[in-house]
Amino acid sequence: MSEQKINEILANIKEPYLNKDFVSLDFVKRMTINGDKLLLTLGISDMEYAHFPDLRNIVIGKILEEMPDIKEVKIDFILGVVNHNNKQKELLLPGVKNTIAIASGKGGVGKSTVAVNLAVALTNEGAKVGLIDADIYGPSIPTMLGINNRPGVINVNGKPKMLPVKNYDIKLMSIGFLMEEDTAVVWRGPMASSALKQFMTEVLWEELDFLLFDMPPGTGDIQLTLSQTVPLTGAIIVTTPQQISLTDARKGHLMFDKVNVPTIGFIENMSYYLKEDGKKEYIFGEGGGKKLSEEFKIKLLGEIPIDTNIRKSGDNGKPIVISDPECESSKIYKSISKNLILEINKRNISPASSPKLEINI
Ligand code: ADP
Repeated sequence: MSEQKINEILANIKEPYLNKDFVSLDFVKRMTINGDKLLLTLGISDMEYAHFPDLRNIVIGKILEEMPDIKEVKIDFILGVVNHNNKQKELLLPGVKNTIAIASGKGGVGKSTVAVNLAVALTNEGAKVGLIDADIYGPSIPTMLGINNRPGVINVNGKPKMLPVKNYDIKLMSIGFLMEEDTAVVWRGPMASSALKQFMTEVLWEELDFLLFDMPPGTGDIQLTLSQTVPLTGAIIVTTPQQISLTDARKGHLMFDKVNVPTIGFIENMSYYLKEDGKKEYIFGEGGGKKLSEEFKIKLLGEIPIDTNIRKSGDNGKPIVISDPECESSKIYKSISKNLILEINKRNISPASSPKLEINI
């Protein structure tokens, strides 16, 4: 009874940025009533809005006013990520809210490095993150995450399930776990397809806000098949500012478009080199990612510099967002992860142009 009343109240209070009420967003995460005390956990699209003027006080005030039996309310805010329902995803990956392909038209642009650091940055924001290394040409993510062990197997309701390997709070499965290093490339396409299916149905992912897929680079048959194998919420395309990479990024976007997977954003990697005098040197050209984003009206989620420490930390199995969280490059990865969360959360709804608090009385 009381829970129903609390839900009724929260159905009339809007999350400040998304401009939609907490109940429709499925952002009422937990409520515990203990005598006259209420402990409420609410999702929020950006943890910074937890400090939004009066949000906490207004929710508390409204509950105390409408529910005389409750004398004390405590609210915890956690990151809220919207679940974009997709029938096939619900069937294959019921606990996973968003499935995102990290793709590139061309190899060597830093796609896997972006996938790893983005996964860490999303985890820092409070998201639950899984990562599937599907790059059949060079599954490098276990190395970048400092993982040497293999997935375990447990029994769930009489069926064996693989347990993803975990490090830095990220759950990982890699095609490299199933494939010998010297497997001929011709076998890799069909193997990748069946491995991905296995990763979706036979792995115990549990609840995840994001399951990221590090896709093989390119826009050929293999990539097309893989992008149809996974029920994707969307794709992120990584490119360098170099013309040849931009041309391939455009092809990447068109490939996803063909199979009705929306491109959520572009990420420009190796955008510039920061010289000792503080000036930027645009080694691979300037502004290509921005132009691409303007052409397709798709968000440029961020521009990452060429940074020796990004390379070193990847080689050492400790992504830069963990090894040096306060450096400029890590700050950029963090802002990319925030942009991604906002892009995902505001899909199919019109958010407030600036966050505001609104209560329907
Ligand atoms: P891809 O997945 O596109 O093939 P990788 O992520 O494996 O690319 O990156 C290729 C190489 O470039 C790796 O050695 C990686 O450490 C390095 N690298 C990636 N991004 C950067 C960057 N922003 N600055 C410096 N080195 C980078």
